[in-house]
Amino acid sequence: MKHYDLHIHTHYSKCSNLKPKTILKVSKRRGLDGIAITDHGTIQGALEVKKLNKDKNFEVIVGQEIMTDYGEIMGLYLKKPVITADLKEAVVQIKRQGGLVVIPHPVTITRSTWSFRYPVEKLKDWLDAIEGLNGREVTLIGNHLAKLKAKKNTIAIIAGSDAHFSLEIGNCQTLFEGDNLKNAIRNHQTSIYWKHPPISWFIGGWASFFSALRKRLVKQEPKQKKKLVKQQSQKKILKK
Ligand SMILES: [Zn+2]
Ligand SMILES: [Zn+2]
Repeated sequence: MKHYDLHIHTHYSKCSNLKPKTILKVSKRRGLDGIAITDHGTIQGALEVKKLNKDKNFEVIVGQEIMTDYGEIMGLYLKKPVITADLKEAVVQIKRQGGLVVIPHPVTITRSTWSFRYPVEKLKDWLDAIEGLNGREVTLIGNHLAKLKAKKNTIAIIAGSDAHFSLEIGNCQTLFEGDNLKNAIRNHQTSIYWKHPPISWFIGGWASFFSALRKRLVKQEPKQKKKLVKQQSQKKILKK
């Protein structure tokens, strides 16, 4: 049985500071047989980890998370970065290079902006897997609904820790028999496993919740300022 963590971020993602060397060291120490590096909008970190790995018995998959107009999707087994925010174009770019199309954390309760908002039924023919277990989905409901989505649409299921800190690596694992993950996914022969160390799950999950909240507040700031300026100028006009 092979154990893979299919969702790890390097320092090329703004939200993570994990170095390629650390990721390899920790992944092996946790008994993993393979990992996918899935940074936001870049495969640079993944390529670095892959290059650094000299162990033939350990697989490094080059992946990427892509923010599209309908939420995030993920490409695995990439050779080139996917550069588009258009969902269908992203799927085409992944498929054209022989990659697998995955929906990560399709239902995220605490980070609703990252939920997937396109009907899975319509994407079924293009979709290779759904992440039915994401290490940063703290509410448990999100992962449960994701699992149901995969089951309902008979789509393969995978798991990833979504690690941004080293203590999260390997928390959520994709299990399969044999040596070929791609085949296992295509034949729907993967299963998911949650190691569930409560402290790291708690820290990682809530850290991501607060960073999402912060992003929202920061985004709202200019709007609020504009509103304030408008109100002040209106007051001035009234005084006149
Ligand atoms: Zn994500
Ligand atoms: Zn992620």
